[in-house]
Amino acid sequence: MSQNEQEPYKSLKRVIWQGENCLSCVWFQPNDPINADLLERGKCIESHLKEYNLIVSGRDWCNKYKEMPQKKIDSLQEQAMKEE
Ligand code: SF4
Repeated sequence: MSQNEQEPYKSLKRVIWQGENCLSCVWFQPNDPINADLLERGKCIESHLKEYNLIVSGRDWCNKYKEMPQKKIDSLQEQAMKEE
């Protein structure tokens, strides 16, 4: 395309990945904590949202996001491995 590109063609060339999504949120309870990826589904247990019994995927997000510390990820995975 030429330098005179018009929107939306200009923005289609940029792929921007959404950060701060459910996969790395402390309130995400994946069905499979060991193999969880962006397509993994699980429950949202955030105190205001849990009454809705939401099933979210790892790539979803909302304004209640809170980053999950690495220690918590490690402990969830260790617990899941013990249960297998
Ligand atoms: S829906 Fe919001 S609060 Fe729930 S897991 Fe996803 S980012 Fe976290």
